[in-house]
Amino acid sequence: MAKTKHVLSPKVSLILFNIFIVAATAAASTTAGTNGFDSQSFKISRPWPFKKLNKPVVLMISCDGFRFGYQFKTDTPNIDLLISRGTEAKHGLISVFPTMTFPNHYSIATGLYPAYHGIIMNKFTDPVTGEVFNKGLQPKWWLGEPLWVTAANQGLKAVTYFWPGSEVPKGSWTCPEGYCPHFNLSIPLEERVDSVLSHFDRPEDEIPDLLMLYFDEPDQSGHNYGPDDPRVTIAVSRVDKMIGRVIKGLKKREIFDEVHVIVLGDHGMVTNCECDEKAIYIDDLADWIKIPSAWIQSYSPVLAISPQWDKNVENQGEKNAEVVAKMNEALSSGKVKNGEFLKVYLKEKLPERLHYSESYRIPPIIGMVGEGLIVRKNRTNAQVCYGDHGYDNQLFSMRTIFVGHGSRFSRGKKVPSFENVQIYNVVAEILGLRPAPNNGSSLFPRSILLPFGATRDLK
Ligand SMILES: [Zn+2]
Repeated sequence: MAKTKHVLSPKVSLILFNIFIVAATAAASTTAGTNGFDSQSFKISRPWPFKKLNKPVVLMISCDGFRFGYQFKTDTPNIDLLISRGTEAKHGLISVFPTMTFPNHYSIATGLYPAYHGIIMNKFTDPVTGEVFNKGLQPKWWLGEPLWVTAANQGLKAVTYFWPGSEVPKGSWTCPEGYCPHFNLSIPLEERVDSVLSHFDRPEDEIPDLLMLYFDEPDQSGHNYGPDDPRVTIAVSRVDKMIGRVIKGLKKREIFDEVHVIVLGDHGMVTNCECDEKAIYIDDLADWIKIPSAWIQSYSPVLAISPQWDKNVENQGEKNAEVVAKMNEALSSGKVKNGEFLKVYLKEKLPERLHYSESYRIPPIIGMVGEGLIVRKNRTNAQVCYGDHGYDNQLFSMRTIFVGHGSRFSRGKKVPSFENVQIYNVVAEILGLRPAPNNGSSLFPRSILLPFGATRDLK
């Protein structure tokens, strides 16, 4: 039987559109709060065209260390399905610098660069208090407003499953029992998927609006064996099977086309080796400058130096600049092995595109290490290769994947690469949330999402 087509005349469409705008504006005036934040999004009840769920839902899945290109290593039918029916960053998603796990997961969640969300590395020392952050959950470290907090603050329900930062209480978010399991890598990926899917079996008014799921693969295999090892190929296949498990679970519940599934990663992966050919040794700079070990917060892939001058030393900024000048003189002398692959900066002189200076937590001196190179204090006899990340986010090897599937994502659309700080606004737009201030563009969601209410062929 032929379907009845409901075609509106342009005039009627315009009238309905205007009615919607008036209604939305009125609703927004009651929900925008008192902070005057201007937003394209409105937390209102909007007509929702689907049958099973009565609202937009986002399920975001992070595959840690899924380097862009891994999807070509082996058959990945489930990721391919999302790509063919959804929207993909054609040349990958750009991580923020430093391309490390905690800074990037929290940038995806907050839309902020690490200098602004405070998680400037996986591990760092607060220069004022001397306290060490090492993936801890004390709220004072975690600045900004992650998506689960934005959702909770505006009356939506969120579920997190191991997403870095999600166990930190903030605003209306208390990491509620049953909605926010505590990090435990021994829990199999299958169990994580099934647990997240089980939330769709709740009574209608208890189904979450936002679900954020974390897989620690293929990162672990990439670190252990390097990105080109066949065991990484197996890990990629395994992750794809988990995506398949998600798709199957959503299809079984007849909500695959309703839920917005976003699959992405936090950074890429590159081979590096603990050997002279790939290393730069700080002690090789000794003829120009001796850097005490106590000054070095991190060697590699980001060299982070925090000089410990005596309190009586004046003009510490100038002294830091002297350290940088002497180090660069040594590195460019041609007499330091691999010196051309390390460039040292005062943090405020780092390339602006890195957005890595505006935090007191960032050490004053930062060294950018060449792709796949390592920095060590001195020579060892080690001869071992593995994988790592954390390098310049301009490197293609540090890119990861992004694919979005669901009613607001066009079918088979390719978009240019973009930075992961844009994702916060995209999710806020889908969920109709008023976004917290962030480093993403408020216009970006328009470039990647269909307008609300637009129809697409979901068959
Ligand atoms: Zn990671």
